[in-house]
Amino acid sequence: MTVEPGGPYYDLEVERIVEETPDARSIVLRIPDEVHDRFGYRAGQFLTFAVVIDGHQLVRCYSLASSPDTEREHKVTIKRVEDGRASNWFNDHVVVGQQLPVMKPAGNFCLQPRETPMVLFAGGSGITPVISLIKSALVTTARKMKLVYANRDRESIIFRKEFEELVVAHPARLEVVHRLDQVDGFLDVSTARPVVAETREADFYICGPQAFMDVVEEALAAERVVGEQIFIERFLSPELETLDHPEPREVREGTSMVSVYLDGQVSEVSVGEQETILEACHRAGLDAPCACLEGYCGACMARVKSGTVEMRHNDGGIDASQEAEGWVLTCQGLVRSSDVRVEYPDAT
Ligand SMILES: Cc1cc2nc3c(=O)[nH]c(=O)nc-3n(C[C@H](O)[C@H](O)[C@H](O)COP(=O)(O)OP(=O)(O)OC[C@H]3O[C@@H](n4cnc5c(N)ncnc54)[C@H](O)[C@@H]3O)c2cc1C
Repeated sequence: MTVEPGGPYYDLEVERIVEETPDARSIVLRIPDEVHDRFGYRAGQFLTFAVVIDGHQLVRCYSLASSPDTEREHKVTIKRVEDGRASNWFNDHVVVGQQLPVMKPAGNFCLQPRETPMVLFAGGSGITPVISLIKSALVTTARKMKLVYANRDRESIIFRKEFEELVVAHPARLEVVHRLDQVDGFLDVSTARPVVAETREADFYICGPQAFMDVVEEALAAERVVGEQIFIERFLSPELETLDHPEPREVREGTSMVSVYLDGQVSEVSVGEQETILEACHRAGLDAPCACLEGYCGACMARVKSGTVEMRHNDGGIDASQEAEGWVLTCQGLVRSSDVRVEYPDAT
């Protein structure tokens, strides 16, 4: 079942595809019994996929829009990004019966064991982890929820019907406020602030385009809502870090040379003493995969074939058995010997 023996990817079959809107589709994956435990998840978590496009392997995260508390299915929903490689590939080329290499679920954008109300702000595809949280909270808690859901127009509202049904089933607990850019304009602080002020003691969940999240964060700060009530999921596109820094940056002192296998090629990369292997790869212009950069998603994992690599922090991105097999999170990996070789996994 594992694509590379001992590697982080599992081949999962596409069981069903749902065309949600003109530019988003859901992909339901079949989880074989033998990996069922590995694919257990909490509402709000995501899956990491590897896809090969034009001969290059890309790694992308997609949040589970299904709920482990209300559905048996593992469903991700992918919205097209203009000129985006993976998102358009998923929408144009994936078919039922196809096998996709997928890592086990990860992520910390999850429910806290509290009974305070929840206020959720979602924009566009940012609804995927948010609907999962709402479905789970409706059946596992008595919490009241308000969702502010922004989209370009009515046609682009993902899960519109599902929300209508949830509101009918839970009228006293779930309120959904749709905002349409074409009718209401973009959300601004003066509109978001009263929503925050209404329920200052709530937990606030935010996922959407950066400008949308900035507005909500500003409204929360203006209302003095504190950090432990705020949960944010950022849909970063991994290679943008590389694209933003195409010029080689200065190499710091105390460098070691590391041999990096990525996408069928071996490169020699200089890594500074306090620099992570991932940072060094990006500085050298390599398209090394990554997503969270904080040690919890696993998208950047590579296997240490020789030498010593020490991780600053592992927030669950790899488990103990993977660590024992020599896997490290390169976003956290510091070089601690002179002869290091790491290999990013080939998923296909
Ligand atoms: C934890 C997490 C969960 C996520 N969940 C979801 C989800 O549920 N649903 C969802 O739809 N998305 C989700 N995402 C986002 C998703 O992972 C991808 O980032 C998204 O699909 C875009 O990937 P892409 O390959 O299509 O775009 P990319 O090809 O990476 O392009 C992204 C942008 O960069 C621009 N670009 C591309 N190449 C270049 C270049 N050479 N020079 C300059 N600009 C360029 C493109 O025009 C585009 O605007 C999530 C991300 C994270 C981190």
